[in-house]
Amino acid sequence: MKELCLGIESTAHTWGVGIIDFEGNVYSLINDTFIPEKGGLHPALVREQHMANFKEIINKALLEANISIKDISLIAFSQSPGLGPILKIGALIARMLSQLLNIPIVGINHCIAHIEIGRLMCKVKDPLTLYVSGGNTIVSAYESSRYQIFGETLDLAVGNMIDSFARDAGLQHPGGPKIEKLALESKNYIQLPYVVKGMDLSFSGLYTAAKYLLQSDEYDKKYNLNDVAYSLQETAFAMLTEVTERALAHTEKKEVLLTGGVAANKRLQSMIEYISKEHNARFEVVPLRYAGDNGAMIAWTGVLRYQAEDGHNISDTIIKPKKRMDQISIPWRF
Ligand code: AMP
Ligand code: MG
Repeated sequence: MKELCLGIESTAHTWGVGIIDFEGNVYSLINDTFIPEKGGLHPALVREQHMANFKEIINKALLEANISIKDISLIAFSQSPGLGPILKIGALIARMLSQLLNIPIVGINHCIAHIEIGRLMCKVKDPLTLYVSGGNTIVSAYESSRYQIFGETLDLAVGNMIDSFARDAGLQHPGGPKIEKLALESKNYIQLPYVVKGMDLSFSGLYTAAKYLLQSDEYDKKYNLNDVAYSLQETAFAMLTEVTERALAHTEKKEVLLTGGVAANKRLQSMIEYISKEHNARFEVVPLRYAGDNGAMIAWTGVLRYQAEDGHNISDTIIKPKKRMDQISIPWRF
């Protein structure tokens, strides 16, 4: 039997379990996602859901892979960055499994995992990556033995910003796909704050301005929700495209990878594809099953780290909610 790694994703809304062999073949990927009835992610509520469901999700993943827990030879878990109370559950379960089964454990940075599963699935070697999700907005590429951050949000993540706006407009979570659909119905661009500072992005002014448009006297007279959705998307995605293009010009990478839940958006895909072509770079979108948070990406990055430097001591498996990806060495790419 091949060596297998079980990966646990537990940074935010998703409790994800993935099983992958050491050659990168995925055996299973099961997610349980918390969807707020109203408002944003409340860590205590998410934690309760993950605690209630973790065993069932692990069992489903084993069943899908057609194996028993004893066939697992490595445990990987998301150690950083994320919401503390939620990271803790993943770390706790991973540590217990590692000790009960007497197998090695590795702690993984969630953002690095998004890049590694993209490299595996899209067969790209050394991409510039735009990672856009509910919790992160990062332009990154490998340089000097790190995944360097070339640009990032200074406040809201783009997915969170769109979801918050959608909520204000009375749409249910997740708002991203609904805003994408509404935006297709308009070509009426309303000027909104476009904020790129150096290589970094700020979405809070854009969010507030779009929200005020909904409350204005002119709403439903001079423009409608489709127009605001369109303008919000065009502005936010143009900002992302500008920073990605500048990073591409600077790094001269020959591949561009788009990942994270917001990578599902066709308008964003087309903008990033356009600038990739301009720079003669190959453009790839991570398959949606692997673009959002999932356990397979944690498992695969666990395999890479384990093969490069062995497992972690239990004392090194403490969660690091604020750890940045550019502080972590990448020994498998030396
Ligand atoms: P993640 O945090 O990677 O699991 O991704 C979730 C985020 O992706 C949420 O903010 C969603 O609203 C967003 N999302 C999903 N599909 C789309 C889409 N078609 N357009 C824009 N955002 C999307
Ligand atoms: Mg993510």
